[in-house]
Amino acid sequence: MNEVSICVIGSGYVGLVAAVCFAEIGHRVICVDNDEAKVNLLRNGGVPIYERHLPELLKKHSGKGVEFTTDLGGAVRECEAVFIAVGTPQGDSGAADLSFVEAVVSEIAREISGYKVIVEKSTVPVYTNEWIRRVLNRLGVPTARFDVASNPEFLREGSAVEDFLHPDRIVVGAGTDRAAEVLRRIYAPLSEGTYYSRPDALPGMCSADKPAKLLVTSAQSAEIIKHASNAFLALKISFINAVSNLAESVEADIEDIAAGIGMDRRIGPRFLHAGLGYGGSCFPKDVAAFHWVAHQQGLNFQLLEEVRRINDAQREVFFNKVRSALWTLRGKKLAALGLAFKCDTDDIRESPALAVIRQLLDAGAQVQAYDPAAMERAKGVLPPSDKMSYAANPYEAAENADAVLILTEWGEFARLDLPRLNRLLKFPIVIDGRNLYRPQTMAEHGFTYVSMGRPANYEAQLGKPRKTL
Ligand code: NAD
Repeated sequence: MNEVSICVIGSGYVGLVAAVCFAEIGHRVICVDNDEAKVNLLRNGGVPIYERHLPELLKKHSGKGVEFTTDLGGAVRECEAVFIAVGTPQGDSGAADLSFVEAVVSEIAREISGYKVIVEKSTVPVYTNEWIRRVLNRLGVPTARFDVASNPEFLREGSAVEDFLHPDRIVVGAGTDRAAEVLRRIYAPLSEGTYYSRPDALPGMCSADKPAKLLVTSAQSAEIIKHASNAFLALKISFINAVSNLAESVEADIEDIAAGIGMDRRIGPRFLHAGLGYGGSCFPKDVAAFHWVAHQQGLNFQLLEEVRRINDAQREVFFNKVRSALWTLRGKKLAALGLAFKCDTDDIRESPALAVIRQLLDAGAQVQAYDPAAMERAKGVLPPSDKMSYAANPYEAAENADAVLILTEWGEFARLDLPRLNRLLKFPIVIDGRNLYRPQTMAEHGFTYVSMGRPANYEAQLGKPRKTL
C-alpha cells in the first residue's frame, strides 16, 4: 500500500468527508480549519455536520489516521499533497468569490520547502489552477517545488461518505505526470479496487471487480467538468419544473410524464423531480459562476440564465399555490415540514424551504416548522419572531394549523400517519412542494391536496364537510 501524507484545508461538508475517507483508504491525514470551535469539537469526538456514516468513520480514524488542527503551516510542512477544500461562495457579480482560496494559497506559500502537489478540491472556475500557480510564483515559491492539480468533488450531501468511497468517477486534472502520479497513488485503493476487498470496507456500488473509474485530464478540463456537471443537473431540474407548469395547465400529471421521460435510457429518471427547485451551497452558485466564466470568454451561455430564472420562479409558483389554497395569509397558522435544502442533510444554505418560509412570514402568516436535522441551523438564520416557532415532530407542527406545507423531501414526510395528521389540523389541507404523495391517496384520506405539476383538488376547502377519520 502506497500511503500518502495528505493535508486537507477546510473541514466543512467536503473537506471533513474527504479527510476521513482518505484515512479510511489508508492515508495519513491532517485536516485543518481556521474555525477553532469546529476543530475543538472534532478533537473531542464531536461531529459538526449531519451525514450518514460520518460519526462511525470519525470514531474509527480520529486521532489515528486523521488529526484535526488549526495550524495550517505545520500541516502543510508535513504533507506531500495539500487539498484545498474551503468555501467558494457566490460573489456580487455571480463569479465565485475565491478570497478564501487565495488566503489559503498565501499561507501555503510560506510553508513550501519540498515538493508538494496543491490540489483544488473546492469547486472553482476554469484557470484557477493557473492563478494558484502564478500566486505561488509571485510569493517566491519556485516552480520546481510544486504542481497544482484539480480534483473536483462530486459527493452529494446526505450520502457524502458513500459517494466518496463509491464514486461514479474520480476526475484528476493534472498538468504534469508527477502530480498525476501522486493523485493516482492517493486514489489507488478505490481505482484498483483493493479497498473494496477489505472486510471492513463500507459497502456500496463499487467492488473489487468493478472499482471506481479514474479519469485523468488537463486541469482546465477538470475544472470545467465540475461546473458543467452541476449546471447540467440544475438544467434537468429546471427542465422538469418548466414541463411541470405546462402539465398542470393542461391537467396532465408530471409524475407520469417524468416516469415516461425517465424510462428512456438516454435521459434516465434521476433529477427529474418537479418541485420547489434546487437550492443548497452548490447548484445556485455554480450555475452563476459557470455563466460568468462563459461571459468572461465572450460567450453568451444564455441557457444557464434561463435555468436560474425557472428555478427562482418555482418558489413563486409554490407561494401562489399556498395563497390560492388559503386565500389570505395574514394570521394563518401553517405547518412547514422541512427546512434543509434537501433531505438527509442539515444544510440550509440557499434552501428553497427557508425562502418560502420568509415569504410566508412577510405575508403575515404564522409558521410552525419541523425538520429532522436542520432546526438548529435554521434558528440561527431565520429572523426571531413570535410568528415563527419550531415543533418536535411533524404532528406537533400540524396541531391546529390551517394547512401543512411540505418543503423538503425527507423520507419521514412521505410516511406520515395521515389519519392522525387529518385529526390534528384545523383544516385538512396539504400543499406539497415535493410531490411526496399520490393525489388519490390524499383524497381518500380526506385532504385537499395541492402539489406540483398535477391537478389540485380544492373540494374539501370549498366547503365540503370535513371527513373525520
Ligand atoms: P463549508 O463552508 O462547509 O466548509 C468550508 C470550511 O473551510 C469551513 O469549515 C471554514 O471554516 C474553512 N475555512 C475557510 N477559510 C479557511 C482558512 N483560511 N483556513 C482553514 N480553513 C478555512 O464548504 P463545503 O460545503 O465543504 O464546500 C467546500 C467547497 O467544495 C466549495 O467550493 C463547494 O462548492 C465544493 N463542493 C461542495 C459540495 C457540497 O455538497 N457541499 C460538493 C462538491 C463540491
